[in-house]
Amino acid sequence: MATYVFGHTNPDSDSIVGSISLSYLKNQIGEECIPTRQGIVTPETQFILDKFGFQAPELKENVAGEDVYLVDFSDLAQAPKDIKEATIKGIVDHHKLGDITTSTPLECWIRPVGCSNTIVKEMYDYHEVEIPKNIAGMMLCAILSDTVIFKSPTCTKKDTKACKSLAKIAGIKDIKALGMEMFLVKSAVQDSTPRELTTRDYKDFEMAGKKVGIGQLEVVDLSVFDNMKDALFADLKALKEQGNRHTVMLLLTDIMVEGSQLLVVSDDCTLIEKAFDVKLENSQVWLPKVLSRKKQVVPFLEKTFN
Ligand code: MG
Ligand code: MG
Ligand code: MG
Repeated sequence: MATYVFGHTNPDSDSIVGSISLSYLKNQIGEECIPTRQGIVTPETQFILDKFGFQAPELKENVAGEDVYLVDFSDLAQAPKDIKEATIKGIVDHHKLGDITTSTPLECWIRPVGCSNTIVKEMYDYHEVEIPKNIAGMMLCAILSDTVIFKSPTCTKKDTKACKSLAKIAGIKDIKALGMEMFLVKSAVQDSTPRELTTRDYKDFEMAGKKVGIGQLEVVDLSVFDNMKDALFADLKALKEQGNRHTVMLLLTDIMVEGSQLLVVSDDCTLIEKAFDVKLENSQVWLPKVLSRKKQVVPFLEKTFN
């Protein structure tokens, strides 16, 4: 019986590429695996798939009765609804440990690095399996995406080292130019609806029993949002109502200036002000140097909510 490999809901490039790169490795070592995804492919990920000649993994949102590997998450809120009826054979992740648990022993590759694909690279090395050129190129892109071209505080030496050897395998000379090409694709937001944008890179968290949603859009120039703020706020409000959430936030991240404009819709804005030691103005605030939701946003909110 084949094992399904997938990343989190609202999949990013790390989740999609990770499902492909981990499945290939597992197939090479004699474990039949099928890469899948839990949601639509973003323009950035489509760019990566096209560039290296891959199809998007099949959409699979029900996993009851199946064997599965999880990549890039370990939170129930980011899993298929019926995950508790699946057998989790392993987790490959680089986030805080989530609330998913298992009833059988599992393979765990959880490391404090900038990207799940950096860990998958370690797994290839561990098993002494060669990485095909086009998969190496996609893994390189996933790491560049997650680490914001090495600028994110989540980026470690292991990530930069993995990128160097993946670039060598893929025959890519200018790593940063590839990263910029990708972030320019990501910055083309004009043709997307507000809902597509608020949920493109969106995660729900459980904080002291309250549902908190945080989205993030990383672009090379925040002026692309100038005529969109009202529409984005309206959609954040709608998301909050529809999901019965306590708070919904959107980080508009400028990867060149290196900081994020935080848009907030909340039952209690003082909690957010306290978490970041700021005052909101028109429900927003500029957070200098903040690039990482995982490292610079979620921990401060959790601390304040608790
Ligand atoms: Mg991810
Ligand atoms: Mg990741
Ligand atoms: Mg990210």
